[in-house]
Formats: sequence, structure tokens, C-alpha cells
Amino acid sequence: MRPCEKCQGSMVIERAVDMESGLAILVYACLNCGRRSTAQKEPQPVSL
Ligand SMILES: [Zn+2]
Repeated sequence: MRPCEKCQGSMVIERAVDMESGLAILVYACLNCGRRSTAQKEPQPVSL
């Protein structure tokens, strides 16, 4: 875990999928304010 840059709340890691491009990326999402920041430099193709 890491603290949110904005509110210092808890951030959880989650996977965001872009259905149009077929790419997925890991993001940190703040449970408190909803801020997101990418945890991965490059999106990865979704393997189904
Ligand atoms: Zn926050």
C-alpha cells in the first residue's frame, strides 16, 4: 500500500481495462478521494 498524494488516504491497486483498445493497466486507486495513479508504465494486452 501507499498513501494518496492528495489526501494521504489508503490506495489500493486495481486493474483497469480499456475494452476498446484491449489493454489493461494496474492503477492505484484512493479509497478516500478516488484519485488514481498508474502503477505500471505501459498497458498490457488483455489475455482472455
Ligand atoms: Zn486520496
